[in-house]
Amino acid sequence: MEYSYVKQQLQTVLHSIEEYIVKHSQNPENVRLVAVSKTFPPEAVTAAYEEGQRIFGENRVQELESKTPILPDDIEWHLIGHLQSNKAAKAVQMASLIHSVDSEKLIHRIDRLAGECGKVQKILLELNISGEKSKFGQTADAAMELAEAAFACTNISLQGLMTMAPFGSEECELRRVFSNLREIRNSMEKQFKKSLPELSMGMSSDYEAAIAEGATLVRIGTAIFGKRDYS
Ligand SMILES: *Cc1c(COP(=O)(O)O)cnc(C)c1O
Repeated sequence: MEYSYVKQQLQTVLHSIEEYIVKHSQNPENVRLVAVSKTFPPEAVTAAYEEGQRIFGENRVQELESKTPILPDDIEWHLIGHLQSNKAAKAVQMASLIHSVDSEKLIHRIDRLAGECGKVQKILLELNISGEKSKFGQTADAAMELAEAAFACTNISLQGLMTMAPFGSEECELRRVFSNLREIRNSMEKQFKKSLPELSMGMSSDYEAAIAEGATLVRIGTAIFGKRDYS
């Protein structure tokens, strides 16, 4: 399989990101691309790496385990999918940022495991803004409690918030979800007097709206690597 198309599609996405930053008057230094390589082989990651991409996102700990040992050390791996507590140890070993923390149990587990390997684990809290039942993530009120728990941990560095918009939402609904995440982040910063710089929001179909609302990490898979084959 030839992955040169990945190089072209990555460049197209990077250009669009730049265009949206300018169009929506956002700060270019703040917006980074997480190339979501889930289900694609290491060769696809290598193609994007050769174009200069360094941040990659995976959904599952097993896929991190199979890819990280055979790919360059200077890749920053982000875990973006739901994390079960029994997989937390491996996640802490491999992920520089875990986007999907959504329970106090997981926070305490990550804190303990990070302590054991002498690491301060960067995390985001995942919020379910739209209220969709099928989604993981916490409500705004519950997230305040999770933030308090995370700030109390010595081996965790809470960096910000993550959300997913409902698939196929209209523009105005997307803007509402993403601006909501930003406002919740702002009130958390006020309440805890801490800085929470990261807003992880925006995927292949909705990253313009996310950038318009202040995303700092956009998680893009399909637009770079193509359609996923789960068969
Ligand atoms: C798969 C996935 C993405 C990327 O989705 P695309 O639509 O392929 O860009 C982003 N975030 C999360 C949490 C995902 O699971």
